[in-house]
Amino acid sequence: MYISKSFIPILKNNPSEAKIKSHQLMLRVGMIKQSAAGIYSWLPLGFKIMKKIEKIVREEQNKIGVQEILMPTIQSSEIWKESGRYEDYGEEMLRIKDRQGKEMLYGPTNEELITEIFRTSVKSYKSLPKLLYHIQWKFRDEVRPRFGVMRGREFLMKDNYSFDLNEKEAKKSYDKMFKAYIKTFIRMGLTPISLRAETGPIGGNLSHEFQILAKTGESKLYYDKKLEQLNPENIDPNELQSFYAAVDNQHNDNNCPIPKEDLKISKGIEVGHIFYFGTKYSEKLNAFIQDQNGKNIPVHMGSYGIGVSRLVGAIIEAYHDDKGIQWPISVAPFKIAIINLMPDDQDCATKAMDYYKYLMDNKIDVILDDRFCSIGKKLSDNELIGIPYQIIIGKRDLKNGFVELKNRQTNKIEKIETDKLIDILNKKLQN
Ligand code: ATP
Ligand code: MG
Repeated sequence: MYISKSFIPILKNNPSEAKIKSHQLMLRVGMIKQSAAGIYSWLPLGFKIMKKIEKIVREEQNKIGVQEILMPTIQSSEIWKESGRYEDYGEEMLRIKDRQGKEMLYGPTNEELITEIFRTSVKSYKSLPKLLYHIQWKFRDEVRPRFGVMRGREFLMKDNYSFDLNEKEAKKSYDKMFKAYIKTFIRMGLTPISLRAETGPIGGNLSHEFQILAKTGESKLYYDKKLEQLNPENIDPNELQSFYAAVDNQHNDNNCPIPKEDLKISKGIEVGHIFYFGTKYSEKLNAFIQDQNGKNIPVHMGSYGIGVSRLVGAIIEAYHDDKGIQWPISVAPFKIAIINLMPDDQDCATKAMDYYKYLMDNKIDVILDDRFCSIGKKLSDNELIGIPYQIIIGKRDLKNGFVELKNRQTNKIEKIETDKLIDILNKKLQN
């Protein structure tokens, strides 16, 4: 893609309405545009990043054999009345009437709807376990929508639901999902910390929250340092669940169960939450199955959420400096930016096009900054956008047979001979 032809409406200054870094930067680089409080349009750059995050989430779900479906955003109120949550949900639920006067709602979550789907077709223990997920927009009329996409009213969530015969089987589904969550966040370049959580209004008896570390995060976390040193290929959920981790209002230095030298304190952002809630919804919604003895029993359920749109902001909170965003390579909108400082110089333009063509032909995500603007603006805009590798082509260097390669994570710049650049880049991308 050429920057000159794309829609990336960069703002000159930090928007005053944005209080936290990720919100400022997302508006600044033109990733999103607010349409109403807590409701956003996703512009090309922001949309591309969200799609990359979604793809990682989807791949890790598919890998463990969970099946993808798509439930609607608009739901009928009837199933919510059956579960008793139509009243309980209160003002966070956006309620709508259709032309027949039927009460509808914009789904804030999908426990009821998935249970209704399950109960009409699954009747026997032989069909269990069943694990289904979808990635769909949710609406919650939050009292204080804030921090951009981090606490929106409309937001994209991946939510799964598991159906099992009994508690023991349900714990297996829970652990499978637990493991997939850790892998998902590590693939995004993040450090996930799993914490035992309150179950809250969803109910039930087992729940974990997944926070990712970010200097500017909202919650203060206290945890065993082992949680920072996970190998994604070798995760034992039971072991992980036994490590100490707490948010600040649960932690007390005087009765902390681990030695001080093992305790780490960092800031975090919640990006996922999982629950095992037993038969709470299946009993109310009449989702019964026949067990091995022919007896009808309520199915055991769990639900598992990841904030896909929140992750876009959370990753920026984890990866930025005072000049802009520093995208981890796995979610970066482009892996490489070619910055032609002198677009009206024939040699610079030809070199930039050579690299661009090569990278495009090899299906490496690349953006070419071919704009006619000052060198200063070009470099600072690219720092702001934060593409991981930046090839900087200037007239004088090029005459001597060199271009610059900048790593946006470290901000280190190397001078590289023009014909060695591609090899070096390929090696860096392979790591
Ligand atoms: P919170 O305590 O932050 O309100 P929650 O307990 O209501 O979260 P869940 O219902 O478990 O959240 O939703 C699963 C995930 O969806 C959360 O971990 C978070 O990443 C995301 N999420 C929840 N509410 C919002 C929101 N208003 N805007 C963006 N993402 C959200
Ligand atoms: Mg909430």
